[in-house]
Amino acid sequence: MGHYCRICGRRRSNEKFSGKGHKTHVCKECARMPKEEREAIEQEDEIFGFLTQSHISAKNISRLEALAKSNNDTIVALATIVLEVGKVTPYKRQRLKILAQKRRDLLRKLDETGLIFAHY
Ligand SMILES: [Zn+2]
Repeated sequence: MGHYCRICGRRRSNEKFSGKGHKTHVCKECARMPKEEREAIEQEDEIFGFLTQSHISAKNISRLEALAKSNNDTIVALATIVLEVGKVTPYKRQRLKILAQKRRDLLRKLDETGLIFAHY
């Protein structure tokens, strides 16, 4: 049976989770990670998640604006790219086609960072 950890992405046995960990889907091992490190992983997932949505909403845009001000350089870089994508082409449909026509620079960044994989 086991339980899924949303930080390390592993399915682990129930003993690997504390009571609180069960609820938050974080295994004991990942719970010991420094908070910033864990948050960065979660935020990275969040940013990739926006690209899987059919639409990047105004609420998502403000969240991305907040993430773009993170202390973590990777998060800043990823959030800035997705923020720009969300502004240029909020709808997933035809996104890559529109970017190829209007913003090849952004398309290249999506490719370089691996964010493009979230699209498919
Ligand atoms: Zn874990």
